[in-house]
Formats: sequence, structure tokens, C-alpha cells
Amino acid sequence: MDLRPLLKKHFGYDDFRPLQEEVITYCASGHDSLVLMPTGGGKSLCFQLPALQFDGLTIVISPLIALMKDQVDALQANGIAAAYLNSTLPFPEVARIEKMAQEGKLKLLYLAPERLANSSVRQFLKTLNISLFAVDEAHCISEWGHDFRPDYRNLDLLRSQFPGIPMIALTATANPRVRDDIVAHLRLGSGKIFQSSFNRSNLTYRVVPKKKAFEQLLKELRSRPDESAIIYCFSRNGTEKVADDLKANGINAAAYHAGLAPKERSRVQEKFIRDEIPVIAATIAFGMGIDKPDVRLVVHMDLPKSVEGYYQETGRAGRDGLPSECLFFYSTGDRIKHEYFIRGMDDLDERQRVRVQLQEMMRYAELKTCRRAFLLRYFGETWSEEKCSACDVCVPRATVAVKEKAIESSFDQDLFEELRALRRRLSASRHIPPYMIFGDKTLQEMARQFPQSRESLIGISGVGREKLSQYGGAFVDVIRSYAQPKGIKEKLTGAVLRPRPVRAPSKTILETIKLFEAKRSLESVARERKISVVTVLDHLEEAVDGGRTLDVSHLSIPPEDRMERMRDTFRENGTYMLAPAKARLGDAYSYDELRFGRFLLKVQARLNV
Ligand code: ADP
Ligand code: ZN
Repeated sequence: MDLRPLLKKHFGYDDFRPLQEEVITYCASGHDSLVLMPTGGGKSLCFQLPALQFDGLTIVISPLIALMKDQVDALQANGIAAAYLNSTLPFPEVARIEKMAQEGKLKLLYLAPERLANSSVRQFLKTLNISLFAVDEAHCISEWGHDFRPDYRNLDLLRSQFPGIPMIALTATANPRVRDDIVAHLRLGSGKIFQSSFNRSNLTYRVVPKKKAFEQLLKELRSRPDESAIIYCFSRNGTEKVADDLKANGINAAAYHAGLAPKERSRVQEKFIRDEIPVIAATIAFGMGIDKPDVRLVVHMDLPKSVEGYYQETGRAGRDGLPSECLFFYSTGDRIKHEYFIRGMDDLDERQRVRVQLQEMMRYAELKTCRRAFLLRYFGETWSEEKCSACDVCVPRATVAVKEKAIESSFDQDLFEELRALRRRLSASRHIPPYMIFGDKTLQEMARQFPQSRESLIGISGVGREKLSQYGGAFVDVIRSYAQPKGIKEKLTGAVLRPRPVRAPSKTILETIKLFEAKRSLESVARERKISVVTVLDHLEEAVDGGRTLDVSHLSIPPEDRMERMRDTFRENGTYMLAPAKARLGDAYSYDELRFGRFLLKVQARLNV
């Protein structure tokens, strides 16, 4: 079964990321699975799409309240019935959501793992029609992981008390020990493990000597105004100093660390997510609860304490797949700061372990070979290529940045800025983060294709059914008022004229096709089937829309210049609808000719002519 129409309808995307389709097909057929994918790999979709295919409810276990809320908001923005239950909700709200779940009005329900310890919660779950359990951040179950949460051990109860309900566990941790722990605790032994590559191909890794680091940082940030960046510092004081210095230099920045009052921390986090403060100088405490997909730069001002940590932190850049940079200011002297802490450790084994990790990190910093290759080998992946074309060892500084950017900037920057401004306005009035309206990638695509009708806007990746109806008009208006005075036409190579995925024709359409493929004229097919010529064309057109290629060589085709004119008209209108085309072309073209021309154009598009 082709899942892409479902992906497009609910999430707006045209295609799957690696492994997503395999996982979804497997999971939706009722099997257990474990999914190992790097940050930004697109794990959420692996259980969200099956959740829509199942009759019943999908229960999602997720450890962080902020993430839970984000995911539910994002699902709701796509018109999907989702909710969460955690300790922050007032009782009437809990009761309301429980009732919705019982009445089958939800597709996904997010739960914090500690709730499972409560037997009345388990009793409540028993009253539901549950189709799937999804365990997000599954490494939290393992003491070998970096983020062990004892509450995750409650998940065992799901297995014993709900036998037969399939489970999917997901994590961005590739550590084999953690993986084995997950399989053992969640009893996933009879299921399948899906592991994708941990290569983040859209990230560029750069290590530069820590000299005049602040000036370099400033230059870097100034070259990317308004783009989101996280700057990791070793100490709380460090974060405050960097943030203050940036502010003094006119950059909108804030500090974030565990020493701030909880209110201030969530204020900073919120402003970052809403694109109100683009730059955050932070200790590693920042980022765990953040799914922001458009972080374009992650900087390490100081030596990270382990390669794992460095990979996790840099991994927060570019989740949306757009080119993003990881910049690390290295000085051997930084080791001393860590040594101070290491000497304070009582446990000698622990001390030794931490020292080894630090040494590995320094080895990375001093590499003379590809940094990406090192990272992947570190996580046990073989990397066959010698050069990656996106690290400072493989490609010297200047060339790297000049990221790729040239390719990506083939969109209209001014229109992109206008679309971002519209997104910000909409996000403020709807109280959701801008990226939940449309991602940068989607806005860039709009600024490249200039779709000027809702029909062509739906052809843009990232625009699904719900978002089209919520925001389509506003975006089309901005694009039109930008493009039309400049005489810019739609450049929809895909969208309108792109053939849709294959769909099986119905029985009656098949009969029409059979006769047509026997090289009979439209009129003769119509006579034989006792239907009108228009209906014959409708049948054939539907078959073509459904992915069929047809041989039309036995038909007499209108002259090339007339075909050309019709093609341009449909394209410029951004729709295959006949009335707007007729309105444009006037009496020179009849409805019948337009209908026939449209059919031929679709046949050609299917054949890539
Ligand atoms: P992970 O949990 O693995 O870090 P997410 O599920 O948060 O990844 O997805 C990362 C980003 O990629 C999100 O912005 C998501 O909307 C986007 N994404 C996921 N799948 C696709 C896809 N098939 N096409 C385009 N974007 C996708
Ligand atoms: Zn490289």
C-alpha cells in the first residue's frame, strides 16, 4: 500500500525520510519494533502515521512535559485528534480528556511514565480501545544511558497487563548496551530493530582554534541574522558573559542555565521557540526539552566533556534537514577546567571513565582526518568514504560555507523574509511556535516556486490538508502581492503537473481503459459503453491521475501551438480547473478542446514529456 497520500494529507510531506516507510508499514501491521534514529531522523512520524491507520487509540509515553505539549500542539495543528495527560493539568481537564479517550474521539494520547505507577490510571487504560503503545526516548529505561528515569521501569506493567497490544520504542541513542536493555525491559524480542545511519548529512562540522573566539562568533552570528543559534559554554558564568557581550554588540541573545529561576528558564526557552530571541548562550542543560527544527548553528565555546555529549548537542542543529553548522572553538588549555572537576570525584572508576571520554574528545578536536568519519566510527558505524565534503578537514573553511549556501539560496530571499514575517504574525495570534505553522524548508520552497493559488500551494512539501485550510489563503495572498507586480509566474514544475501516486482504477474505469487501449477512438468507446465522450475522458483522466500511463498515439492531437497555449494557461492558473482556463483564453478555445487538452497534458506529464 502506498502510504504517501496519507503522509501528504495529514503531514503535508511528499516523501519519507530513510527507514520511515519500512517502520510504519511494519508497525501498522501489528508488530513490535525498536527504532534507532539520530535526532532529526523523523522518529515521531514512525508512530504517528500508524496511529492514524489503526482503529483504536495510540498511547504515547514521553518523559518531558514540554516535549509532550509540543508534539500534541504540532499534531493538532495538522488537524489530528491528540491530547496529553500529565501532572500540570487541572482535574476537570483530565476528566474531559479521559472522557474523549473513552468515547474514541482521540487518535493519540500522551502520558508521562509516572502515571503508570498509579493503578487507577491502569484501570482507566483498560477501559480504552488501545491499538498501539509508543515509547518515545526509550533509552530512559536503561541505566547505561545518559538519561535514566526510574519511572520508565513502570512500562513493564504495560507489557504484563496489556499483552497482545503492539509496542514501538524509539530512541536517538545508538549505544548497543542501551539497545539491549530496551529490548529486554520492554520484551521486544520477537519484534524487529530498525537502525538508520547516524550520519547527519546536512550538518557541517568545524573546529577552529580558540583565538579571538568572541570576534569570530560575532562575525558568524552577523552573517546569519535572525537565524536560531545555540552557544554552549562550560560554566554558568560563561553563558552570562557571552550573552551580555552579544547584547552589547547588538545581538538579541539570552543566557540559560540551571541556576536561573524556573520561571526565567521557561521564559527564555519559550522566546527561543517563538523566534523572539534567536541566540541562546547555554550550559548543556538547554536543549533537552526542545524540538525546534530550525536551529542553524550550534557553537561550543569550550571543550565538551565527551564525544557522546558533543554529538547530542550538535545534533540539535538542523532537524529539518536544511544545511546547518556546528562550530567548536578549541584550546588545549580548556582541559584544565575539566581536570578540576575530575579531581573532585570520589569514585576512582568514574574518574578514569570521565578522563577517557575527555581524551577521546580531544582526539576529535585534533583530528587530521574526516571528523564525520570519526564520529560515525565512534558510534560503531562504518563509513566507507574517505572525505565527507562537509567538515573543515575535508573542505577548508571558506569553501564549506560558500554550505552549500549557494545551492540553498536559489529561492527568493525577500519573499522568504515576507513569508517568515507572516508566519510570525500568525504564530503570535494562534499561540503556537512559528515552525508549527510551516517549517523553513516549506517557506523556502514557496519562495522558489511562487505558488499563487491554493491548488498549487498544496503541491509544496509541508503543506497538508489542515494547514492549507488554516493558512493557505494568507500565504497565497502574500505570494501574489509580491509576485504579481513583478510579473513573476509560478514555477511549478511539480505540484500542478506532477502525476499523483499510483492508485488502482475502479471496475467501470477499467472497462473504458480496455477499449481505449485497443486503439479505439473516444467516440467509439463512448458508443460501445453507452456513455458520453466527456465521461470517457473523465474515466481516462482519472486513470492517468491514478498513475496509469496511456498510449494516445491513435488520437488526433491539437496543433502544438494550441497545446502550448493551454499548458501555459493551466500552469499560470496553478490549477487544472477548466473555468479559470476558459476565462483566460476566451472564445478561441471551447470547453471540449480544453478538456481534451488537459487530458493530453496529464498523459504527457505522466510520461515526463
Ligand atoms: P526526531 O524525533 O527523530 O528528532 P522528529 O520526529 O522531531 O525527529 O522530526 C524532525 C523534523 O523533521 C520535524 O520538523 C519533522 O516535522 C520533520 N520530518 C519528519 N519526517 C519528515 C518527512 N518525511 N519529510 C519532511 N520532513 C519530515
Ligand atoms: Zn569530513
